[in-house]
Amino acid sequence: MWHKFATHLPQLTVQLVVATLPPNSTMEDDEAYWNPSPSGNFSLRTAYAYLNDTVSTLPRLPWSLVWKWIGPQRIKSFFWLLLNRGVLSNAERNRRHLTDVDRCHLCQVESESYFHLLRDCTAVKDIWLQIIPIRFQAFFFNPYISFVDWCFGNLKEDSQKCSVIEGTLKKGLLQPAGDTQLRAVFWSCPLQGFVKLNCDASITGALSSAFGGGLIRNSSGRWVGGFVSNLGQCSILRSKIWSIFHGLEYALSINARNILIEFNNAIAVDMINDVVLPSASCLSLVRQIRQLLNAFDSAHLSHIHREGNFVADSLSHHAYTFDPGVHYLSEPPDCIASWLFHDLVGVTYFR
Ligand SMILES: [Zn+2]
Repeated sequence: MWHKFATHLPQLTVQLVVATLPPNSTMEDDEAYWNPSPSGNFSLRTAYAYLNDTVSTLPRLPWSLVWKWIGPQRIKSFFWLLLNRGVLSNAERNRRHLTDVDRCHLCQVESESYFHLLRDCTAVKDIWLQIIPIRFQAFFFNPYISFVDWCFGNLKEDSQKCSVIEGTLKKGLLQPAGDTQLRAVFWSCPLQGFVKLNCDASITGALSSAFGGGLIRNSSGRWVGGFVSNLGQCSILRSKIWSIFHGLEYALSINARNILIEFNNAIAVDMINDVVLPSASCLSLVRQIRQLLNAFDSAHLSHIHREGNFVADSLSHHAYTFDPGVHYLSEPPDCIASWLFHDLVGVTYFR
């Protein structure tokens, strides 16, 4: 269907429209959303913090937290440089007119801001997810906090945040490998009466197009159905949330009543499960997903590491060859046959 628009609109515009949720009768009305505030409501405090951040006035900062932090000197120096905007990320180089391209050279997708470089890039996020304790993740991955607050919040030692950086370095980076507790990661069949949906998404190409894929298996681990989707142009987080949406729509269309959903993006899972507030760009999609979840007799969404989600990952790559839109698959494509077997026999990874 989307190719009909290609003769009337620029390709980029079509890609952006494909990635936009169409209006429907179950959607709530549009509403104003104040992005700097986690609740979406305007407040003077967040407006002040926002302005303070954007005009680059140097606020009074607790620098002693940097210099008193117990750890290698080179890391202290790195923190100090970061807080003074002295680390030349591509976004910073672009701000100083040293380059025209502000993109991250690892993922080639997003602007290489400090947040992206240190926390949000797909190349680093999985590492953080392995070593940041779950109770700190809502703070650590908070998309609304300012960079400076995030840095000092991570350095600060109090009962709540308990020096995330220190704990992480001690637990995950500075400790000998033998001391870390390994966790087994593998795909497992759902219980009798349930189906399991695994889905994933990826971004590729010159236009940074997003592609999704997913599959449903029964309690014997056998293929029930699957889908691939060419999602147009959107962020990696949004594309991953799209893939859950398409997977749930498909599960309802085949009359699945009890469903387990496994997904390897912890932030998306937390947004849908209402553990963290959804970002403004994902809000309407997250709400639609919650409505779809309510349509099942039983539905449970959880995070799985990528080693347990290889089939869905492979399907999202298979989607590159498909036109924009969602395409349902009644039979598994040949390219995932070995991964299906891999899951069925329970190949286990330790991390
Ligand atoms: Zn990146």
